[in-house]
Amino acid sequence: MFTATTIPLIVTLCYIGLCVASPYGNCRKCRGFGFKTKITRRGRVKRGRDCRRCHGHGRRIRIGRWIYNRAARIYRDAHTPAPGTRPGTRSTEGTPRR
Ligand SMILES: [Zn+2]
Repeated sequence: MFTATTIPLIVTLCYIGLCVASPYGNCRKCRGFGFKTKITRRGRVKRGRDCRRCHGHGRRIRIGRWIYNRAARIYRDAHTPAPGTRPGTRSTEGTPRR
């Protein structure tokens, strides 16, 4: 049965699957190049500055994965109170690993 709530549910499930399969997507600003492209007067494409949004990585963490990381960290912090040491503080969240 196809109701009005079925399609958004399918889309959400697909998006969650996408976030699990590939947590990093191409940067929307530079389209995955990691730098801005400039076109010279002769019409040739030239490499510009590093992208400010992704810091030259060309990849950005998907918002779904970001939310998942946040939720996982909050869950960890709430359920495993480690005295003295904080596990996984300032990890590589937000910056793609090379
Ligand atoms: Zn970028």
